[in-house]
Amino acid sequence: MAKSTETAHLETNFFGDVCEFFDHAAQFTSHPEGLLDQIRSCNSVYRFRFPIRRGNGFEVIDAWRVEHSHHKSPTKGGIRYSDMVNEDEVMALAALMSYKCAIVNVPFGGAKGGIKINPKNYTVAELENITRRYTVELIKKNFIGPGIDVPAPDYGSGEREMSWIADTYQTMNPGQLDALGCVTGKPLALHGIAGRREATGRGVAISIRECVDVAEDMIKLGLTPGLDGKKVIVQGLGNVGYHSAKYLIEFGATVVGFCEYEGAIYNENGLDLDDVFNHRKSTGSILGFSGAQVEFTNSSEGLEQLCDILVPAALENQITEHNIGNIKAKIIAEGANGPTTPAAAAAFIERGCIIIPDMYCNAGGVTVSYFEWLKNLSHVAFGRMDKRYEETANRNLVNMVEKTTGVTLDSVQRNLIIKGATELELVNSGLEDTMIRSYHEIREIKMNNPKIDSLRTAAFVSSIDKIAVSYMNMGIWP
Ligand code: GLU
Repeated sequence: MAKSTETAHLETNFFGDVCEFFDHAAQFTSHPEGLLDQIRSCNSVYRFRFPIRRGNGFEVIDAWRVEHSHHKSPTKGGIRYSDMVNEDEVMALAALMSYKCAIVNVPFGGAKGGIKINPKNYTVAELENITRRYTVELIKKNFIGPGIDVPAPDYGSGEREMSWIADTYQTMNPGQLDALGCVTGKPLALHGIAGRREATGRGVAISIRECVDVAEDMIKLGLTPGLDGKKVIVQGLGNVGYHSAKYLIEFGATVVGFCEYEGAIYNENGLDLDDVFNHRKSTGSILGFSGAQVEFTNSSEGLEQLCDILVPAALENQITEHNIGNIKAKIIAEGANGPTTPAAAAAFIERGCIIIPDMYCNAGGVTVSYFEWLKNLSHVAFGRMDKRYEETANRNLVNMVEKTTGVTLDSVQRNLIIKGATELELVNSGLEDTMIRSYHEIREIKMNNPKIDSLRTAAFVSSIDKIAVSYMNMGIWP
């Protein structure tokens, strides 16, 4: 496949793959080529290097921040800590962030960051040093700020790194009232938001539930509607994979397989998520788990076992033209960004199967990041103003109904009706509504145009149209 001219000098072609999906969808829109080109391109690519002290000497760290689109401000996206990070990857992930935010109506442009290190090889003090220095480099070039560009966790980073970023930014911007909105995914105690950690996985599970609840689509696949008893294989036991599995099980599915880089395990009757997780934590490997019927030292074999739904929730480029022929699942739900290559996706769709595309499927993370950012800008936790008011109003209503009807509720029933919403309940409600609404928006676009072959193409059409409207509203295009 031809490489994008923007990344012709780079070794990998992930950004090219994203552009290929984009170009395929663009034919179903009616925007001028110049505008499409503006939407497709990465606006700013900042590549930098900085030294850190290590042992008796120094080490030079490679890092990036890419802002893909400024049709909305701020731009938003995680920072990846991995020794595999490269410029092409960060560009591709930044582009996906723009499309992702547009699909779920989160008013941000897309961005992504990368630090080329394997965090396992560094002490906590070194990681803190690297993260703080990375943040300073972003500040120097105006690549971070609550109204400019707002990082978040991604592969290899989490709440700890986000709190270092927030602290560094705040220190360098004394008196800036909204400083804490410069990064999301912070710990709850440091102005984070309830439910952010689980958000991406919860969103993945909701997206799958919405998909399998459409009876018409399931009948075409030869599956019964609903999640009950559906067999799922999950790749990746990190934050996204773990929580996707957790909520899928809660919604009635059976997780029959887990794949990690060291191998895969399978049991057609189901695997206990926490037992698997604890086994891996204590032994360092998914292999050797006593509840598995079979195990594979070649992890990719795990993806090819019998199941209804495959959830790649690790990294990009996992399902390619080389293994798509062996995948037995009828639905692929992309918890990770870019796990399916364009060729593999085309082959899977050709078979009549469904891919729930990354840019929608894993958008739960940035959706709750948006709620966290709003919380930081408003300086008040969700529910703080109205929880007690709501409870009093509900209590008055229940008392009045009890009095007039003579029916008395027990304390469990009373509490259920009276209780005001907590921050977590509000966040989860906002997340669920976003995921449900967006799924049907995308599906509708697909149903309304028989030439649109997949949910991914429909999702791209939706985001291209929305981003185009933003540019037009900015007066850049007539
Ligand atoms: N890194 C996550 C993603 O790829 C979250 C981004 C965010 O919350 O800004 O969607």
